[in-house]
Amino acid sequence: MIIAGPCAAESEAQVQETARALLSLQSPLYGGLVFRAGIWKPRTNPDTFQGVGEAGLAWLRCVKERTGLPTATEVATPEHIHLALAAGVDYLWLGARTTANPILVQSLADAFADAARKGARCTVLVKNPVNEDAALWIGNIERIERAGCEVMAIHRGCGHRPCWTMAHTLRTQRPDIPLLIDPSHMGGSAERIAPLLQKGFSLGYDGAMVEVHPHPEHALSDSKQQITAAALDAILHGLRYEQHADGLNFLRAELDEIDDQIWQLLVQRMAISERIGVWKKQHAMSALQPTRYEQMVGDRVAWGTQQGLTEETIRGIYDLIHAESLKRQK
Ligand code: PEP
Ligand code: MN
Repeated sequence: MIIAGPCAAESEAQVQETARALLSLQSPLYGGLVFRAGIWKPRTNPDTFQGVGEAGLAWLRCVKERTGLPTATEVATPEHIHLALAAGVDYLWLGARTTANPILVQSLADAFADAARKGARCTVLVKNPVNEDAALWIGNIERIERAGCEVMAIHRGCGHRPCWTMAHTLRTQRPDIPLLIDPSHMGGSAERIAPLLQKGFSLGYDGAMVEVHPHPEHALSDSKQQITAAALDAILHGLRYEQHADGLNFLRAELDEIDDQIWQLLVQRMAISERIGVWKKQHAMSALQPTRYEQMVGDRVAWGTQQGLTEETIRGIYDLIHAESLKRQK
């Protein structure tokens, strides 16, 4: 299943142009194509584009009538749910900021339950919360399930970090829930979409949600991470279909992410070390401060050995880090 379309519906023409471009693509994957567009946008800053609101529902309906594609939009209040269902939107998703708040999610679950009692069929896509919290993600899914909806999960990462461990936990505890990857929000940039999609597919994800805009550079939101329909088509055709949807691939993705963080932290550490070097020079202090070093490593050894690391390993790592730091302070 590929859910594609703009971050936000901006105008009727932009929505129709994107839908037409997606429909003209040739890929077996497009058998499961769904058209997405956000109309109520959860933006960080109140001065930015907040979405066109209710007016966009008519545009989505038009896409459905003209192309036959099912449609999807984000809902964040009970009123959004009633309006979107009444307008015939097929898939409703809960965004990462919404799913960070269980009280809000429960009020949405109540609205879905109400709609289900009145005969509506709801399929709800639950994004992971912005914070790395697998238990909250799973709890949100349960709330929506209890409302009588069909549920799928969207892994969109935390900030611009994938948080593979969180997704692995969901996959292990709820293998019955279809899991989609959202490489657009996970990576935050057009260049990262292809490698993240590849990773998701090699981990056995069931589909993807990708932001597609006819002119990404002019998009009113998330312009850096949107791609054209033709670019999406090229990425999908370039994917390798590996048959390794097992735990090992997930664990390796988790390991790669931790190493990434280790390297980023090391770079940050060295930058601070350089600033300390400047301070020492200004105060006629020598770069090597043996008492401070011994005290620092002693602290790390005490903590690390409690966590099951050996003193030899910790000292070995710190000797290397410290040697690099000293070079920076020369
Ligand atoms: C979106 O899909 O456009 C969106 C706002 O996503 P998220 O909730 O993942 O930030
Ligand atoms: Mn977006």
